[in-house]
Amino acid sequence: MNAQKWKILLVYPPFLEQRIHEDEIRALPMGLYHVAAAMKAAGHEVALLNLNDKRPGMDQVMKMIQDFRPNVVGFSILNANRWGGIDLARRIKAQDAAIVTVFGGIGASTLWEHLLTHFEAIDYVVIGEGENTFKGLVHRLENQGGADISQLGGLAFRRDGRPVRTPCDPFIEALDQLPDPSRYFTYQHLSLTRGCPADCRFCGSPGFWGRRVRWHSPVYFVDQIERLVSRGVSFFYFSDDTFTLRRQSVLAVCRAIVERRLAIQWAAISRVDTVDEEMLRWMRRAGCIQISYGIESANAEVRRFLDKHIHIEDVRAAFAATRRCGILPRAYFIYGCPGDNEETVREALDLMREIKPLGAIFYILDIFPGTRLYDDYLARTGRTDDLWLAPIEDILYFETDAAMDKDAVLTQGRMLRDGFHRLLPGFAEDIELLDDPSFYPLHADFLSRLAMTFHRGDYARIPAIPRTRQTAEMLYRRSLTYAPDVRAFLGLGMLCQERGDYPAAAAILLRGLEQHPGDPELQTCAAVNDMNQGAYGQALQRLRQLDETPQIRQWIDHCQAAVGP
Ligand code: SF4
Repeated sequence: MNAQKWKILLVYPPFLEQRIHEDEIRALPMGLYHVAAAMKAAGHEVALLNLNDKRPGMDQVMKMIQDFRPNVVGFSILNANRWGGIDLARRIKAQDAAIVTVFGGIGASTLWEHLLTHFEAIDYVVIGEGENTFKGLVHRLENQGGADISQLGGLAFRRDGRPVRTPCDPFIEALDQLPDPSRYFTYQHLSLTRGCPADCRFCGSPGFWGRRVRWHSPVYFVDQIERLVSRGVSFFYFSDDTFTLRRQSVLAVCRAIVERRLAIQWAAISRVDTVDEEMLRWMRRAGCIQISYGIESANAEVRRFLDKHIHIEDVRAAFAATRRCGILPRAYFIYGCPGDNEETVREALDLMREIKPLGAIFYILDIFPGTRLYDDYLARTGRTDDLWLAPIEDILYFETDAAMDKDAVLTQGRMLRDGFHRLLPGFAEDIELLDDPSFYPLHADFLSRLAMTFHRGDYARIPAIPRTRQTAEMLYRRSLTYAPDVRAFLGLGMLCQERGDYPAAAAILLRGLEQHPGDPELQTCAAVNDMNQGAYGQALQRLRQLDETPQIRQWIDHCQAAVGP
């Protein structure tokens, strides 16, 4: 590597409000990996820093920066981490004013003028697609002392103390020519596409990507997966706005995953009007375990307000087909919209009773810059981007509409969540699956994973969900009617033990071990069950076959003490 090249640090700053459960949001954005790969391919030393993952203290972060000694720090900005970025940029400038700070991403692109007007610690803002602009900026700063930066497309900076910007270059059409981030980094979030052709009023994608969609080739995408699999990654999030937009690309990706025997599981985001059963079958064969669909509202008027143009018949068909294929269908709903009331909540619950989602997320309607909802808000209130000088992540729609009542909106959210949770065990009982023997092992996997979610996972921790253990048991047993699924044996064994039925646990675990000899989890569970029954000699035999961990050692000592010399 050329020793003269500038060192680059790329940071995903912390959100104002800590997210504990939203794994999909806390991961480093894919765009940052693409920028990092472009800089690596150009010979730069690059470090990535995700401050939403483990959230180290600021002193620790500053120490890391001092040790790495970057010339440029790039910040990936969403609305939620804008203040985290500003705070860090200020600290960096206070530590070393020569370090160049560059903001980019959707949250910076729309607020470039505001950011450069009010925050001296930000030197540049990259607007829109970042790879070429960021690389061009670094090269000009490094080699020409910043001359000619106005020749770069999509860059905002200060001229004579005032923020100015250049027009964006056309979008990169040949996405496959971008350096593949998996050559340099290990991650779980991938995308086949950039952009979405829809124009939902609350969403920033249309403004950022211009409603044009560009695709990577299936080969580029699956090569990336294969490389990551070889480094031990087995679960992926396909983070496209809508993964299923182009049928032939989806089928090619899925066929390639199957042909290359990549043993992966993945979750995707889709639209109800871009899937069909054949596509879903291929997605399931290729490891898809969950698809999230934006329904937003069951009420046509509210959907019209949101500009979510979907048909309820498509919602019904997509959810039915997704469940049939053994993929968990997850619904996104938005509440707190103008026109929402207890009646629209009832409509949403009625729709849920029909489509039986096995996961649901309920968002309160938020206003973010870069959306048409935000433009409408500025137009109707006369406010300006200066409102972001307040330390806030977003604006709740109901706060901007005098006709809406906070308590009523919050009640809508509670009714939706509680209603969904009450109905959920019934949805799990009603699962109808494809009667195709080639899918039976996949069905067994789907049912036992869902069972685990009720038994030990997220659903087990939600008191509003009734009958979680009974639902888990039913699902485990149903799983075993399709195939001898190891997770189902284990789950049933644990359930029996938890209710003190050790002989039943022993029988099911023995059956499991006959099917999966030496499986360490079944073996461990069987050993614990033996100990519970006082069969310490047998437990000892099992424990000695396992890799020794501190816990296993402790159990071995316990059994030895019980058995005697
Ligand atoms: S909400 Fe989804 S479908 Fe609508 S514009 Fe955004 S990405 Fe596209």
